[in-house]
Amino acid sequence: MAKIKITHCVRGACLAVCLFPGLLLSSSCDSHRRGESAGSSIATDTPAKKTPDIITEVTTAEFQDSITPLEVLGKFKAGNRRFLEGRMLHRNYLSQVDLSSKGQHPYAVIVSCIDSRKPAEIVFDKGIGDMFNARIAGNFVNTDILGSLEFACKVSGAKLILVMGHSDCGAIKSACDRVKLGNITAMLANITPAVDAVKGFPGNRSSKNQEFVAAVAKQNVLIAIAKILKESVIIREMVSKGQVMIAGCMYDLRNGSVDFYP
Ligand SMILES: [Zn+2]
Repeated sequence: MAKIKITHCVRGACLAVCLFPGLLLSSSCDSHRRGESAGSSIATDTPAKKTPDIITEVTTAEFQDSITPLEVLGKFKAGNRRFLEGRMLHRNYLSQVDLSSKGQHPYAVIVSCIDSRKPAEIVFDKGIGDMFNARIAGNFVNTDILGSLEFACKVSGAKLILVMGHSDCGAIKSACDRVKLGNITAMLANITPAVDAVKGFPGNRSSKNQEFVAAVAKQNVLIAIAKILKESVIIREMVSKGQVMIAGCMYDLRNGSVDFYP
């Protein structure tokens, strides 16, 4: 007869002994249902589906030191592939909260839009403490974002700056339409250079033209990358020494995929 015995749950503060798998599955303890409890001992004399490995660790200073900027970019490409294929890693977030409370060693910093449909940590399958995420509508770069990037790279050791645009961006479309509204007007002024830099589209240079909007979104990412290199001496030097890499990408809201460029 199958036996499943859970003797101790570290996080859930519950103590349970269950001799019947069915009862275990109907337990109210979520971590037990997923087999995630760090303190659980599970023994069964019948073949069971392999429990996915649970990541309890966080990125360490040693790992951050050892990985190259190009390898970090590879981790982001691999993470999005896992996301698209439904193979996301399983993590014990409370363990990561506990471990990262003692310090952080993220290997990347992302500049991304505030759009609710584009949570970078999820679509790149990253855990707590893996990456910084500077979110601002339209993912542009200003002095405050530059300072954040310098902190992430120079002070905290991030190896990759990833500027992430996305399809159907409301901020980009508003900039295309020259929207004037409260403080949004000043915010959109940061995106206007990308609108102006995209040539052509004489018939329709508005948000109604999806191709124009897509072109502006990509141009906006490229301008952000150029601005980082131009206006941050700290990051420019780190890039020239091979300590940091800057890349751009575009997230497709329709299917969750990310195109990296160059
Ligand atoms: Zn957006």
